[in-house]
Amino acid sequence: MSRRLLSVIVPCFNEEESIPLYYEAMEKIRQHLPVDLEYIFVNDGSKDQTLDLLRALSSEAPNVHYISFSRNFGKEAAIYAGLKEARGDLVTLMDVDLQDPPELLPEMIKLMEEKQLDCVGTRRADREGEPPIRSFFARLFYRLIATISETKMVDGARDFRLMTRQMVEAILELSEYNRFSKGLFSWVGFETEYISFENRERQAGETSWSFFSLLKYSIDGIVNFSEAPLNIASIVGLVSCCLSGLALLFVVFRALVYGDPTAGWPSLVAIVIFFAGLQLLCLGIIGKYIGKIFLETKRRPVYIVKEKK
Ligand code: UDP
Ligand code: MG
Repeated sequence: MSRRLLSVIVPCFNEEESIPLYYEAMEKIRQHLPVDLEYIFVNDGSKDQTLDLLRALSSEAPNVHYISFSRNFGKEAAIYAGLKEARGDLVTLMDVDLQDPPELLPEMIKLMEEKQLDCVGTRRADREGEPPIRSFFARLFYRLIATISETKMVDGARDFRLMTRQMVEAILELSEYNRFSKGLFSWVGFETEYISFENRERQAGETSWSFFSLLKYSIDGIVNFSEAPLNIASIVGLVSCCLSGLALLFVVFRALVYGDPTAGWPSLVAIVIFFAGLQLLCLGIIGKYIGKIFLETKRRPVYIVKEKK
């Protein structure tokens, strides 16, 4: 029986410093793998020497492939492109900064075979070396999404995961424009187990995530996988409607019984502002969903390839 093929998808955005380190680390592991290996690097519109490095690597090694985007489309798009390109019986996603330790690969393949799993994921056992404020909001996000969404997302789960061809095909069926991979992987189901490992610091280069890009990412996650904000908006609307109805009855009753002491316009203004704010908030929430629908109906491609090999 011929050996199975493992496709490794590696999104790269301005990673000239990390690529050589990553490739070296992977080549060391390669000999210990029970499968053949192909690399699919995705150059996500890098502004540095990333593409040149990938060209050079792929001309030296026949198992190195790359796709280069026409601009930066984001990691989600890079993952999608990689999954489409991958030919392997097994597929894995890895960051190029060595925060996803290549040493785990043999263990992941073994676990998958032993337990007949469809997917082996990895999760960070701790958040060592991460700014505390970032950890705090990350935890908050996972707790929130666990309560408001039916799709379960594991806290600390990384995108580093090993999947069977069958699972990859299932993910490719989900061709939506607004991609939130953490949710998609969990949505398709299949038998998944997680391996924990200690958090690693980035080996070289810099993270491209700012606090606000992470905040936007988590709002996308919530909007893509939950209708809870819409429900909350309607419930809050309903409750305040009932309350103001009661208050109105009270005011009318008081005016009829005790006459009309004309006071309280400050409280009136406060109430008006409060409800105006509430309405704007609800409109904003609805707007968020409409925005998603707008982007989705345009049916634009998730990414555009400029060059590939
Ligand atoms: N990445 C990408 N496109 C982007 C941002 C990041 O392909 O727009 C890649 C990046 O090159 C790396 C991986 O996604 O391989 C994870 O990025 P990073 O290490 O910056 O994120 P963090 O580990 O801090 O979450
Ligand atoms: Mg990283």
